Amino acid sequence: MSIDRYRRQTLVKEVGQKGQELLATKHVIVIGGGGLGSHSANLLVRVGIGSVDIIDNDLVDITNLHRSSVFSEEDIGKSKALILEERLHSVNTKVRVKGVNQKVTEENIWSLVQHADVIIDGTDSIPVRLLINDVSIQHHIPWVYAGVYETVGMVMGILPKETACFRCITQDFLKLGAQEIPVLGSLPATIAAIQCNEIIKLLLGGHPTGLLIYDVWNQCFDVVDIKRNPYCPACGIKK
Ligand SMILES: [Zn+2]
Repeated sequence: MSIDRYRRQTLVKEVGQKGQELLATKHVIVIGGGGLGSHSANLLVRVGIGSVDIIDNDLVDITNLHRSSVFSEEDIGKSKALILEERLHSVNTKVRVKGVNQKVTEENIWSLVQHADVIIDGTDSIPVRLLINDVSIQHHIPWVYAGVYETVGMVMGILPKETACFRCITQDFLKLGAQEIPVLGSLPATIAAIQCNEIIKLLLGGHPTGLLIYDVWNQCFDVVDIKRNPYCPACGIKK
């Protein structure tokens, strides 16, 4: 491993050289390569995670450009996953970066994430988040939820059967239909960075600290301690 590349990071006492070497053994899978996922994958590759997969079957659209700093106009019409693979490989050739141009379904999600140490939610789809949540609970893979809406972002690390899961907190959201989500262009980068901090922490043995809510317009951070729902259909003990 090139220590020079990570020298400033290994000086952080929470990481150190051992932590840096540990990160290089880890495999993170990013589901969704859009506004959130493209930023997250970019950061993960830069900080030296060993393997990063990005799964997305969408093409880059001009409406994606206001909230991603990875894609450019020349990428319009091309696969997000394959563009990210190409671009991020050139950022850090020591990291194994793989773009998977595939839609995530109930049938294929396990085959896509089975080697993950942690899964990143880079999607804006509640049904896909529920698939991530359920495969996470079933196979005991931690994941980090992130969401953006207008000027508010949320991040929550989830340790299966230890912390509250996505279904513990989202029963009311499930009635919402698919819709185009309004989002301030600068917000996903902020939220993806917080999400990556959670990932690094989890990979180095840290523990999630609840649901973080960032309200940009009021410059206000809040962390809510969410308890597991004993009746949760995914992780509840009384389901
Ligand atoms: Zn739950």
